[in-house]
Amino acid sequence: MTENTEALFLQSELHEKIWGGDHLKEFGYQLPSDKIGEYWAISGHRKGVSIVKNGEFAGQSIAELWQNHRELFDNQPGAVFPLLTKILDANDWLSVQVHPDDEYARLHEGPNELGKTECWYIISAEPGAEIVYGHNAKTRKELAAMIEAGEWDKLLRKVPVKAGEFYYVPSGTMHAIGAGIMILETQQSSDTTYRVYDFNRRDADGKLRELHIQQSIDTLTIPGDKLPLNQTTTETFDGAKLTTLIKSDFFDVYKWEISKSHDFVKIAPYMLVSVLDGAGSLNINHKTYALKKGDHFILPAQIEGWKLSGNLMIIASNPK
Ligand code: ZN
Repeated sequence: MTENTEALFLQSELHEKIWGGDHLKEFGYQLPSDKIGEYWAISGHRKGVSIVKNGEFAGQSIAELWQNHRELFDNQPGAVFPLLTKILDANDWLSVQVHPDDEYARLHEGPNELGKTECWYIISAEPGAEIVYGHNAKTRKELAAMIEAGEWDKLLRKVPVKAGEFYYVPSGTMHAIGAGIMILETQQSSDTTYRVYDFNRRDADGKLRELHIQQSIDTLTIPGDKLPLNQTTTETFDGAKLTTLIKSDFFDVYKWEISKSHDFVKIAPYMLVSVLDGAGSLNINHKTYALKKGDHFILPAQIEGWKLSGNLMIIASNPK
């Protein structure tokens, strides 16, 4: 057992992608190439786990803490740390894809595999940038026929995006992130992706990436244009503006804009916090941590309250 009342600041992995770029250096990360697509900022996933940088758990991974110090996470059940926070830098279209729900993932991918519901906070978007969000097929038969015929312009529902927007992407949603977009993604900790269409691109070895047509037809929601309405609520205080972006079955996500300071009381068993802009500080009891753009940390279960000061734009989340 531990009486940890420290925030857990994290060091995480960069992932190269064919659609990546070099914009993640704006967050202070040292990029090993100019094809970096993703920073897995808060992750217990085996394909890229975050390591604690400070305090008594320095050097340990989130996966290890989930196994050996579950009290930090309020002794919540589950085989794996349930959420994954990423920052993505899309310089080209990502593949058009769909993720299964928990039941389909368990049956088809393995007993410890989760489905994947995700959501996107748009950090920046170049003029004209678009995402694929949903599809236009009305029946599964029509969906299969349009995929078979390659009628992508007819099938894919393209939506223009702007910085500051938020999109909830439940499992079963056809989706893709377009060129010129940076997002912060909060998702279930899963890497199970069924690729529907990859723009006929070839990788560095001249190969087409694998497609998963049957799994996609099985798991895509029908009809594909009934997407959740964005219902955000905002509370304004003297030194802060707090917005609830989504409350879902898997996670709640918040945007905290601090202009002076704000005292928070615990609202969930534990929280994942990402500083997307500005600088300031975090106070817990009598301890002060400096904060800057690109920092990511977990507020474990032992922390009952905290104060944020300065000029900060933060995306925070908690699991369900
Ligand atoms: Zn996805």
